[in-house]
Amino acid sequence: MTTILVVHLPTSRKFLLIGASTPGLAAVCDAEGAMHWLPAEELKVFEYDGRPIERYRYMLEPAASPAPTPTPTPKSSEVWEDVPLEACPACETPVRQDTRECPSCGLTLILEQD
Ligand SMILES: [Zn+2]
Repeated sequence: MTTILVVHLPTSRKFLLIGASTPGLAAVCDAEGAMHWLPAEELKVFEYDGRPIERYRYMLEPAASPAPTPTPTPKSSEVWEDVPLEACPACETPVRQDTRECPSCGLTLILEQD
């Protein structure tokens, strides 16, 4: 029988973990054997099978670190990805469909409307 001891973080009270249910509730019992249902995220295992949880740390997943902030992609390259490329009719340099002038040969690709 595996014993799992948990500490209830908000109160620092220690319990024996009995079981869990969905969603995220853990059944624990106190020193008197009284059962409590506590939110799993408020519990932290500190002892498993008679050993401090630190003993298992090396084989466990590291604590979830906050999601890394996504590196903002430079807008220009994003736009570049979205717009299909066309070959310049004169020099065949790949140019965006909305490019007005070929950067290579200077050919006007889109005539100003107005
Ligand atoms: Zn060109």
